[in-house]
Amino acid sequence: MSAPSTPELSLIIPCFNEAEGIAGLAAALEPVLASLDADGVELVLVDDGSNDSTHAELLAWRARNPAVHPVRLARNFGKEAAMTCGLHLARGRAVVILDADLQDPPELIPQMLERWRAGADVVLAHRSLRPEDGWFKRVSAAAFYRLMDVLAHNQVPANVGDFRLMDRRVVDALLHLPEKTRFMKGLMNYVGFKVETIDYIRPARYTGSSRWSVWRLWNLALEGITSFSTAPLRAWGYLGVVFALIALAYASWIVLRTLIWGVDVPGYASLATLILFFSGLQMFSIGILGEYLARIFIETKNRPLYVVEQLDGFEPEWIEAQA
Ligand code: UDP
Ligand code: MG
Repeated sequence: MSAPSTPELSLIIPCFNEAEGIAGLAAALEPVLASLDADGVELVLVDDGSNDSTHAELLAWRARNPAVHPVRLARNFGKEAAMTCGLHLARGRAVVILDADLQDPPELIPQMLERWRAGADVVLAHRSLRPEDGWFKRVSAAAFYRLMDVLAHNQVPANVGDFRLMDRRVVDALLHLPEKTRFMKGLMNYVGFKVETIDYIRPARYTGSSRWSVWRLWNLALEGITSFSTAPLRAWGYLGVVFALIALAYASWIVLRTLIWGVDVPGYASLATLILFFSGLQMFSIGILGEYLARIFIETKNRPLYVVEQLDGFEPEWIEAQA
């Protein structure tokens, strides 16, 4: 897979309805890239099916700067798919993923590159503070990372987003993972290699507001848990044993009581409560089975992760090599 000229660094930037931010992104990014003594830099900008003028903005940027390679996906496939598309197309010997909204400060890129040149395969950007997030996002993110820690034993580092540098061999390893339900933060950690971390304070969005609704974040969390832990599936076996033991003790007590004191009928309230409690518990466990089953279903369909509508500036040899 040797392309005519392999750039040293690729930047992958997923963009969903970021039209007002593109000019600011270009203005912030270009001086940083110019200051790098990198042997070729390319920008892979993945327009994730935006319904504003993001793609036109990207094409205008490309007209000024040939290092810019816009890709348009046929619809909104989500950030995980957009990043995967960018990783497929990027050619760099090192790859940095960053958000389009300048919440991942480009000023960190020189530092990342330096660490990579010194031997790191992955350079993570750790959010030491996230003052830009509201209390709800902070609390829910903290709860999520805590839960992941318990369920998946450190497989997902806390407060590390998708902003990171990866060496080519890490990217290749990542692209060889066959799964379709892609929880990138977990997968990128799964492949391993020599990981280093730098800290930063996450600034607020340059324009607009987060493209993630609470519902989408919840689904991302479910994706993370179900792709990296089978504990929710296995818990029911143990819970079943515990409840069976309790039931056995209680049943023995009822039989004994009936033998000693005779039949006594009242008990409607406790019966109703038990039925409601256990049917709720059963539905919950079936729901968890359903979460995993749905993912098996999605995997077996083996649909592509994303569909590309338009590519600009990619050399045909390279696209073929990737296909
Ligand atoms: N994004 C995307 N597809 C989506 C949602 C978001 O490509 O369906 C991009 C978005 O344009 C941005 C990055 O993912 O570049 C992070 O999104 P956002 O800033 O909304 O997330 P937050 O910073 O709140 O986590
Ligand atoms: Mg953001």
